[in-house]
Amino acid sequence: MFFYDFQVVLQEVPGEISLCFSISGCPLHCEGCHSPFLWKEGSGTRLTSEYFQKRLDQYTGLASCVLFMGGEWHSRTLVERLKHARQQGYRTCLYTGADHVPPEILEHLTYIKTGKWNRYLGGLDRKTTNQMFKEVSTNTMLNHLFNPK
Ligand code: SF4
Repeated sequence: MFFYDFQVVLQEVPGEISLCFSISGCPLHCEGCHSPFLWKEGSGTRLTSEYFQKRLDQYTGLASCVLFMGGEWHSRTLVERLKHARQQGYRTCLYTGADHVPPEILEHLTYIKTGKWNRYLGGLDRKTTNQMFKEVSTNTMLNHLFNPK
């Protein structure tokens, strides 16, 4: 599993400071995709367990959540990284363009955002959106935290 980009983000998971890994190889190819550089499998840097551990250690006590932008197409590695993050006290989130992810991934997530990008419907900050942001354990929709207009 390769990541194109790593950032600390504040808005993608409301109430959390998130370590965000953008995973390359997205197979969904949404029309109007804001990140087509993520389509090519293998671009960026391999997300090794050692590198991941370093980032988790670096932000312990500063960040609260680990966010994957994609990566469900590498389910075994993704589950390993999610378990690793949780063991180290982080909450976890996956942003996917798919409508569903397998239960073996879901069980390691605190939050999930589902749904393809559709420029006519807009993102999580729009009431018209097809995308959903949920707390997994309670299946509670949290789109309202993105201040839909
Ligand atoms: S899921 Fe995200 S990265 Fe993948 S094609 Fe759609 S908008 Fe682009």
